[in-house]
Amino acid sequence: MSEIFDTEGKLKIPAKELNREELIVKEVYCPEGHNLISKEHKVSDHPGIELAFRKKNGEEGIVVLSPILGDFNAVFLRGKVDDGEVVKFRCPVCDRELPVLSTCNICGEGKIYVLFLDKTFSFNNAITFCSKKGCSNSSIRRSDAIITALGL
Ligand SMILES: [Zn+2]
Ligand SMILES: [Zn+2]
Repeated sequence: MSEIFDTEGKLKIPAKELNREELIVKEVYCPEGHNLISKEHKVSDHPGIELAFRKKNGEEGIVVLSPILGDFNAVFLRGKVDDGEVVKFRCPVCDRELPVLSTCNICGEGKIYVLFLDKTFSFNNAITFCSKKGCSNSSIRRSDAIITALGL
């Protein structure tokens, strides 16, 4: 049986639960200001980030990414991407290709795409993700972490 009180009789709360709210993205914007948080589709129990994608062979689809930092869950509403495939991401509203920070520092093939956390459209207040499915950079991360990793 797990202990829920510590030795001083206080309720034990795991550290990761305390920070959970700030790990979930509630709004993200394309460069035109469209909020890409899905109204209809949840991933990992939270409204996901809906994006259009195009594969190298021209196939197009819609994917909803988990809004939780570091979570690799994603739901394909249309089309499918296999592990190892690299795609291009676009805004599903205005069809504009999303901004790219650089080539991925982990896989060397995917691009690091950027979505802005507010309408100042700052790369410093943004999330990033690699466009190669299965890459360890392909879950959303805060942009400052990847900017540091890339030495930009
Ligand atoms: Zn847009
Ligand atoms: Zn990558």
